[in-house]
Amino acid sequence: MGGIREARENGAGSDSENWTGRGQTGRLPGLMIIVIRPHAPPGKIEEVVAEVKKLGYDARAIIGTEQTVVAAIGDERTHHTLESLLAMPQVENVLRVQKRYKLASRESHPKDTIVNVDGVLIGGPHFCMMAGPCSVESEQQLLATARAVKAAGATVLRGGAYKPRTSPYEFRGLGKEGLALLALARKETGLKVITEVLSERDVEHVAATADILQIGTRNSQNFELLIECARTKKPILLKRGMSERIEEWLLGAEYILAEGNPNEMLCERGIRTFETYTRNTLDLAAVAVAKKESHLPVIVDPSQGAGRADLVRMLCRGAVAMGADGLLIEVHPNPAEALSDGQQQVDFELFGAIMRDLPPFLKVTGRNLCDQSP
Ligand code: PEP
Ligand code: MN
Repeated sequence: MGGIREARENGAGSDSENWTGRGQTGRLPGLMIIVIRPHAPPGKIEEVVAEVKKLGYDARAIIGTEQTVVAAIGDERTHHTLESLLAMPQVENVLRVQKRYKLASRESHPKDTIVNVDGVLIGGPHFCMMAGPCSVESEQQLLATARAVKAAGATVLRGGAYKPRTSPYEFRGLGKEGLALLALARKETGLKVITEVLSERDVEHVAATADILQIGTRNSQNFELLIECARTKKPILLKRGMSERIEEWLLGAEYILAEGNPNEMLCERGIRTFETYTRNTLDLAAVAVAKKESHLPVIVDPSQGAGRADLVRMLCRGAVAMGADGLLIEVHPNPAEALSDGQQQVDFELFGAIMRDLPPFLKVTGRNLCDQSP
């Protein structure tokens, strides 16, 4: 047929004959394809095969009339990366067949992960509403908001004690005082608390108060912070970096899982695009992709997502319809007086309307609003 012919003399020989992975049926341990430049002499192909083997993989060259490739069999996640082969002049491309994230992938864990936040279940059929102010500003502001969001059906109270601000002159949060107020609000209302950890320095004392650690968009790839947060074993909500690809976001999630903490949620909060009518572009397609690719619950933050209070209600409906496992919404007693993100915070009335909108959207995606704590 003149098509592709296996060149056993260049390959790994008979021990890699079994393409189902050294005697195990059905699964390859991992596969990479190294594309050789056209017209490379056989000696140059052998050189690549030898190099692949040196790096710990089985290798087999497949010589076609037009194109030759070397298949490398082995798990790139546990071996040396093969991308370095691009340094060889006869190598045109190195193609990965396997996903770079393993623990975060649906393949490794087909069922939805259900995160247990001190008795509140999130994921699978359990949909969770997280709401509260952008920043914790005062006892009065936080408690009034906590009572209002609880009465409307929220289960988790949000509120930043440590705020990442673009300018150092803006309100950067009450710090430990803010954490104490969150603890007070939890005590009074029974709501669980989610709050952001900005730095490794704060992990221990934030974890002592928070029920969920929020990792913000600006820290999404701060891997040392991810590892420190993971070690607390607390549930973690990992926001997507504002310029992150979905693969990078899932690799960030992988850091937390690889550290032995399975209590993780992803959060889509909008990405930077050329659009100026919204602060960010809320990527609802990413919600669908993340749900397909990963078993982790996906939460949507339409507040940072659009940066506009007038769009939050519609985006909430859309997010739930897309299959989100929860929403994270900024709510303030008087958004015009907020110390941060006033333009995107909804008031109590609008929050109530958002909650009343949800049932039909939850119904089509087979979810129930998770139970409130007593
Ligand atoms: C926030 O939730 O207030 C916040 C700062 O979020 P992000 O990290 O998504 O900007
Ligand atoms: Mn905010």
